Amino acid sequence: MSGQMEGLVAIVTGGASGIGAAIAAKLHDEGAQIGVLDRDTTGADERFAAFTADVSDRASVDAAVAGVAERFGRIDIVINNAGIGAQGDVSANDDDEWARVLSINVTGIARVTSAALPWLRKSPSAAVCNTASIASTTGLPQRALYSASKGAVSSLTRAMAADHLREGIRVNAVNPGTADTPWVGRLLDSAADPAAERAALQARQPHGRLVSPDEVAAAVLYLVSPASGSTTGTFIEVDGGMAALRLRSE
Ligand code: NAD
Repeated sequence: MSGQMEGLVAIVTGGASGIGAAIAAKLHDEGAQIGVLDRDTTGADERFAAFTADVSDRASVDAAVAGVAERFGRIDIVINNAGIGAQGDVSANDDDEWARVLSINVTGIARVTSAALPWLRKSPSAAVCNTASIASTTGLPQRALYSASKGAVSSLTRAMAADHLREGIRVNAVNPGTADTPWVGRLLDSAADPAAERAALQARQPHGRLVSPDEVAAAVLYLVSPASGSTTGTFIEVDGGMAALRLRSE
């Protein structure tokens, strides 16, 4: 560990589970203090300050972000990672479900970042990283609403990068492939034969296995660390080559 995040404070949404928990641990290992913002903080690592908040509710987001600032006196990094899935083609979800998923996966980023902006503007090391997905760049079957939400995360990432460039706030994203998290575990558990389903899922990945949350966290660490000081408005694919393969076969 290099201590490259020493003295910095990071908010990690969805930091109580899966990819968010791995990101929080990685940034903490590098010296950052962590405020986890999650609607269910029961699984949050006790090394982190945990704030119960729903990113689809502005009042709870504002209170949690204020709580992080009060606790640590600054906010330098925002990791917008909280997200939920949705299955089916474009006709599968009703208007309420479209509104709910977009409110969490897309508008949630706007709520959390807006609340943290006054603090980010004061930081000499300000950076934001959004968790998008391979669904933002490839046509995943039966994931219409989810893909729309993650495509919006990519567009929003570039727009935020442009808007806050001159303020010294960098904004990037990661596009994970299918990652080995509780979310995916729940999907596998709902199959008739979870072990067979897992084997089939692994076989569908270009590198023959699921992405590890720690691999995603390593990319996020790079994107919010001083090492990427000239990088903004872009994303890193952490997908075992899935996007490259799909683009090549088109
Ligand atoms: P997960 O379900 O294991 O963890 C998600 C966390 O977000 C949970 O702690 C949950 O409580 C929290 N959360 C959900 N909705 C919230 C809300 N409204 N407000 C606050 N917190 C909320 O999921 P994961 O697999 O770690 O996914 C994390 C992110 O990675 C998501 O944005 C997801 O779209 C993205 N992603 C996941 C995969 C994958 O295969 N697991 C692939 C690509 C992208």
